[in-house]
Amino acid sequence: MEEKKSPDALIGCLLGSAVGDALGLPMEGLSRQRQLKIFPDIDSYHFFFGKGMISDDTEHACITAQALIAARQRDALFDERAFTASLSKRLRLWLLMLPAATGYATLRAILKLWLGFKRSGVYSAGNGPAMRSPIIGVLLCDDPDKMKSLVYLSTIVTHTDPKAYDGALAVALAAAMASKHIDDPREYLSRLDGLIDNHDFKKMIKTAAESAGQSTEDFAAAMGLGSAVSGYIYHTVLMVLHTWFRHPADYKTAITAAIRCGGDTDTVAAILGGIIGARVGKAGIPDEYIQSLYEWPVTPGWIERLGIALSETAGPSSPPEFSYIGKFIRNIAFIAIVLFHGFRRLFPPY
Ligand SMILES: [Mg+2]
Repeated sequence: MEEKKSPDALIGCLLGSAVGDALGLPMEGLSRQRQLKIFPDIDSYHFFFGKGMISDDTEHACITAQALIAARQRDALFDERAFTASLSKRLRLWLLMLPAATGYATLRAILKLWLGFKRSGVYSAGNGPAMRSPIIGVLLCDDPDKMKSLVYLSTIVTHTDPKAYDGALAVALAAAMASKHIDDPREYLSRLDGLIDNHDFKKMIKTAAESAGQSTEDFAAAMGLGSAVSGYIYHTVLMVLHTWFRHPADYKTAITAAIRCGGDTDTVAAILGGIIGARVGKAGIPDEYIQSLYEWPVTPGWIERLGIALSETAGPSSPPEFSYIGKFIRNIAFIAIVLFHGFRRLFPPY
């Protein structure tokens, strides 16, 4: 029987994603240059009167954690069918709660789930799977084979392009290593080598590891991502890894540097936050960020309970749940604020 896992890394991973997501959300989709003009200071939340709110990135991480708990058998084993079933069911319900933003591939895949397709994934190399994989990496940091198979299952529910799986695995490995305080880029590269096959992607990551002395913005420019980081998983994961190599244990500096690159800021910061959060735990995430999350029913306290529940090895057990009606009502208010931000962007400074 495996000993009980310390919940620190699991809680840090989930809260780290939530805070990164909330910090990056108001500038999602803006170029680096426009972001600097509209948001010269990104030290605090800019979503709603100094408060931050979470988006799909954190919700997917939490749904994955719930599905992992639902799939847990005795002795910390996981029933893979139960994992897929629970994840699929939760994604279907998630869409009913009207999330303000979902990736196009994720949306199509969930609609296929509703229509009863067994193979719901669509051919896309978007970021959904990489939002779900940090928590899998942290939980299964001592069992690379199991980690690999659960990341695969979590990926193909929505995305079937092998690139999506590569990207999600690269993220899971980073989070697994971070949770064990291993952050030597060379060690990462050698472990990655046995994990994924795509030579080009590995070469890009090797360049990121060798460029850890360079600022993240300069590295982005050198890789042709100088104006914004796209939602293409190879680009997103590349920027996440570079920032992690450069600031493995400095949550705030890393998240700020990643957001400053522009583009898909909430997703980049959520994935990176999941990795560094696993390294530094809740205590390493600035407390004012956690306190200033304006969320219900998925509150920081609920996320913390989810991390604790995930650390239990007794299984089988039921995961913590939140009110779906509550989340639906919250999402209506959330959409209104997102629309306000969209409208605001029509105006100067350009
Ligand atoms: Mg998002």
